[in-house]
Amino acid sequence: MKIVKRPDIMQRIAGRLKRRGKSIGFVPTMGALHEGHLSLIRRARRANDILVVSIFVNPLQFGPSEDLKRYPRPFEKDKKLCRKEGVDFIFYPGAESLYPRDFKTRIAVNDLEDVLCGKSRPGHFRGVATVVAKLFNIVQPDTAYFGQKDAQQAVIIRRMARDLNMPLNIAVMPVVREKDGLAMSSRNVYLDADERRDAAVLPQALKLAEGLVKKNVRDSAKIVSKMKELIQQRKTASVDYISVVDPDGLLPVRRINPCSRALIALAVRIGRTRLIDNIMVGNKGR
Ligand code: AMP
Repeated sequence: MKIVKRPDIMQRIAGRLKRRGKSIGFVPTMGALHEGHLSLIRRARRANDILVVSIFVNPLQFGPSEDLKRYPRPFEKDKKLCRKEGVDFIFYPGAESLYPRDFKTRIAVNDLEDVLCGKSRPGHFRGVATVVAKLFNIVQPDTAYFGQKDAQQAVIIRRMARDLNMPLNIAVMPVVREKDGLAMSSRNVYLDADERRDAAVLPQALKLAEGLVKKNVRDSAKIVSKMKELIQQRKTASVDYISVVDPDGLLPVRRINPCSRALIALAVRIGRTRLIDNIMVGNKGR
């Protein structure tokens, strides 16, 4: 396994591999790897000749009052995990090499970036789209792997790749969860014991919604209000948003149509930590 820090060197290596006819699988991450990341890495490992994992805590996607500084960065541990999973290259650039002083470009995926998490994190998805486009140009993957955990991010990246004719496939993998249902996240380490207990209310609220849909409750407002009721019973929890949207355009769905899919997405603050999760309903749960 090689660790490559310089974008120009990573790009040259990738170009050479592609000319030799190798398929490149790519898993972009911010590090602090857990089973969620590893599920993407394992899938990518199986499906490609070469596997590149990037580890980069992208300053462009953090707001001024967000956790850029305290975001966990256990690089030695990440390195060990990558080696064990058969990763060929860790791309591990410094912020100054991806964003030199005179860096001016941003990629905006209009409308999709302003809803759900975009409302309380202005500029976040521009930061995500911009860094992912750069990483795609550097790593030149045949397939890039993302998690359904960050549902809006996956929708935005898919749309960006399509709109800009990027020559790659985007694969989106299911959410990996802890035993009590909490979606794995690098931010779960911020939770103290009480908060960790309360955090299980996120998947519980999604399960409740799923149950209601199965019982033919179609009215999104009613479902959302039942979910809020449940979440508000936890002392440390406060709801940022709960939305029912269509999974491609992220537009609000007032009534869930059993024949088409709807995405129920939420963000909840547990103490100071903002957690997100989602579930797909309708279309017989597919
Ligand atoms: P991050 O390091 O948080 O930027 O995540 C890197 C990639 O891993 C993103 O595509 C995430 O959606 C994905 N990911 C993070 N947590 C999970 C999870 N619990 N299950 C599946 N994928 C995940």
